[in-house]
Amino acid sequence: MERILIHACCAHCLGKTLAGLKAEPVAYEPTIFWGNPNIHPLIEWRRRLKAVKMLAERAHLPLIADETYGLVEFCRAVHGHEAVPERCARCYALRLGRAAQVARDAGCRVFTSTLVTSRHQDHDLIRAAGEAAAQAAGVEFLYRDWRAAEADEKLVQMLYHQQYCGCVFSEFDRFKDTKTHLWPPPA
Ligand code: SF4
Repeated sequence: MERILIHACCAHCLGKTLAGLKAEPVAYEPTIFWGNPNIHPLIEWRRRLKAVKMLAERAHLPLIADETYGLVEFCRAVHGHEAVPERCARCYALRLGRAAQVARDAGCRVFTSTLVTSRHQDHDLIRAAGEAAAQAAGVEFLYRDWRAAEADEKLVQMLYHQQYCGCVFSEFDRFKDTKTHLWPPPA
C-alpha cells in the first residue's frame, strides 16, 4: 500500500477524490489533511471542517487538521493580486505548499488535493502549484482530472455543501447578481 496525503477543502470533493483513488491501479492508503486559510467567514470555515471531520469518521480515515483560522494569512498572500487568476494561483500555492510539507512530515511520499475534482477550479494552475510544492518538499504531487468522479453517496449524504469557492472575493462573485437579502424585495 502506498500512503497518500489528501489535501481536502470540502467533504463532497473529498468523496469524489476517494472514488478517484479507488479506481487507480495503485492501492493507496489515504490520510486526510485540512488546511484552508482561504475559507471565510469563520462559521463557513467551521461548517466545511465539520463536514470533512464527519466524512473522515465515516470512512475510518486519519485526519490531520490545521485548525487555525487563516484569514490574515490568506489576505497577506493575495494582497495586491486580488484579480483572478493571480489570486487563485497564490491561493493554490499557499494551500498545496503546506500540504506538501505535511505530507513529507507525515511520511507520505505522494500527495494530492480535492481541488482536482472541481469543475470551477483552474486545473492548469492547480497542477503547476502542486508540482512546484512537491518539488520544494521532496514529495510527489498526484494530479488526476477527477471532475467526473462520483462520491460514494453513503460517505457524503447530509454533509454540508457550500455555495461558493471559499474566499470573500468568491462569495461576492457568487451572490452579487442575485436578489438574496435585497430590501425592499425587488419587484
Ligand atoms: S476563488 Fe477559490 S481558489 Fe480562488 S482565491 Fe478564492 S478561495 Fe482561492
